[in-house]
Amino acid sequence: MRDDHEERATMVDRQIRSRGISDAAVLAAMSKVPRQLFVPFESRQYAYEDRPLPIGSGQTISQPYVVALMCEALKIEPGSHVLDIGTGSGYAAAVMAEMGAKVIGIERKSELADRAKANLVRSGYPTVEIHCGDGTVGYPQAAPYDTIMVAAGSPALPGTLKNQLANGGRLVIPIGPSRHHQHLLRITRQSETDFSSETPGDVTFVPLIGEEGWKETS
Ligand code: SAH
Repeated sequence: MRDDHEERATMVDRQIRSRGISDAAVLAAMSKVPRQLFVPFESRQYAYEDRPLPIGSGQTISQPYVVALMCEALKIEPGSHVLDIGTGSGYAAAVMAEMGAKVIGIERKSELADRAKANLVRSGYPTVEIHCGDGTVGYPQAAPYDTIMVAAGSPALPGTLKNQLANGGRLVIPIGPSRHHQHLLRITRQSETDFSSETPGDVTFVPLIGEEGWKETS
């Protein structure tokens, strides 16, 4: 079996740097976080492949490149106060914690929230705080945030979330009219009342389900 350091170096080179991600802090963090500890035991041999992987409960850990794209778009800095919505396996939260951010994660499925916490503890990120709940309404108790990452696709931008950004803060969210195809939207809060937006790329995420997202189907 290949050494996991080597597998990460290859992943960062071939899947991330070669596709134009240049933020040195993102590349360094992704070279360090042990992604194999965030996937189910039986999928460990696929942990560094260029794709999302099932993590149970019908959900997935995002493709490494997509995590890198979102982290770069968020311009995370040491000490940034980050809200991670749709924590899933906890992998993206770990990457942001490795970049020095103080991360709060929200996951709607309790079994995944519990596992994310366990994954974060055993991989060396015990300070990431995980809550189980509906992230479409954010987490007002700890607002405002320097950055908010939403890792599930929404039909529209939940208004509550952008109001939990600090001035100068960034939010990235996959938005799309279909449950399975979205474009990535980045919102920057310019002042109390002004927000600017850009679309850094097309992506595919599982649906964001909740009060200000999609309705549950079953
Ligand atoms: N960032 C994750 C990706 C997880 S996939 C990782 O690195 O593994 C998206 C996750 O969003 C799923 O676990 C899903 O259960 C969760 N989710 C969907 N709607 C949500 C909501 N309203 N609030 C919080 N989590 C939500």
